[in-house]
Amino acid sequence: MAGLYFHIPFCKRVCAYCDFYKSADLRRMDDLLAAMHRELDDRRGYPGGEAVTTRYFGGGTPSLCTPEAIRGLLDHAAQLFDCSGAEETTLEANPDDLTAEYLGGLLEAGIDRLSIGVQSFDDDCLKLMNRRHTAAQAAEAVRAAQRAGFGNITVDLIFGMPGFGGDTLRRSLDAALSLGVQHISAYHLTVEPDTAFGRRAARGEFRAVDEQISETEFLTVHHTLTEAGFEHYEVSNFALPGFRARHNAAYWHGAKYLGIGPAAHSFDGEERHWNVGSVERYIAGDPAERELLTNRDRFNEYVMTALRTAEGIDTREVAARFGTKRLERMREEAAPYLQSGALRDAGGRLAVPPERFLISDAVIEALFET
Ligand code: SF4
Repeated sequence: MAGLYFHIPFCKRVCAYCDFYKSADLRRMDDLLAAMHRELDDRRGYPGGEAVTTRYFGGGTPSLCTPEAIRGLLDHAAQLFDCSGAEETTLEANPDDLTAEYLGGLLEAGIDRLSIGVQSFDDDCLKLMNRRHTAAQAAEAVRAAQRAGFGNITVDLIFGMPGFGGDTLRRSLDAALSLGVQHISAYHLTVEPDTAFGRRAARGEFRAVDEQISETEFLTVHHTLTEAGFEHYEVSNFALPGFRARHNAAYWHGAKYLGIGPAAHSFDGEERHWNVGSVERYIAGDPAERELLTNRDRFNEYVMTALRTAEGIDTREVAARFGTKRLERMREEAAPYLQSGALRDAGGRLAVPPERFLISDAVIEALFET
């Protein structure tokens, strides 16, 4: 097994852009953790005894868990699976949870990579997003993590926020760089209907940025970070050499993973499972839903994830996994994009140049098998 994922669905406050599954009822934390331990036991055979190479606590807000709770889940998993070769154990954290004492506890629990949800280093932008922290708190959280001994830190940033591009975006990028983090995830704001921004947009009180601004900001992010030595290795991800996110890369490369917790997904190489997206129903033991992936589903998934990475599609892998007929069809569909420069062929790998990742969806759609 490549990855083990724990989903902690609680948040103290709901961010204006977020449509992830989450709950604000923190009173259910103990019951939730007990249910997650039960799920670990129930799925001890998943998926066939492979060793765990990466572990990831996502959410929601995993930093609302005590270090003891984190350690409890990791220790339990280590009794059930071979975690002795785990290369990366990440925890997503909100900046205002990261006290020196808490950070020390996380290190002792076995967390070696922190993903800090900064989103912006501009207080007005953070306020509009309804984040819990200020820019100063975010910077201090990164410094505190470094003082505690974390040497692998990623921060999340959001661009495409109406009214906060240009200099504000550049200042946020500069602030992240000046803190000396090893990895930055920069996501374009998506205005989803079931969010505060979505509801404001429906009332005509909020407008997403237009395509031209999107592209300008995307290129600002791309150039600023790559000029600072970061590799733009996936649509939204930038890393200093040696610091790519291993857990996420496993998803992108079709590796197996087990997801524990409400709304968590799992993949055993053939079948995808997803747990019920409700804390109450998860605690009550409602079963996961499953979907058997056809060869075509797997091919389309491979195309979609591979074209979002700098490595792109390995044509030899396509031939080996999906057959030469599919490869031939894909090459035909790819020809006009190769000609226009939207795709490059480097030694049998078809890849979207990173500075054009923003328009990769059109290429992906063209190469899909319908
Ligand atoms: S963005 Fe993160 S912290 Fe904010 S509501 Fe969504 S899951 Fe919670």
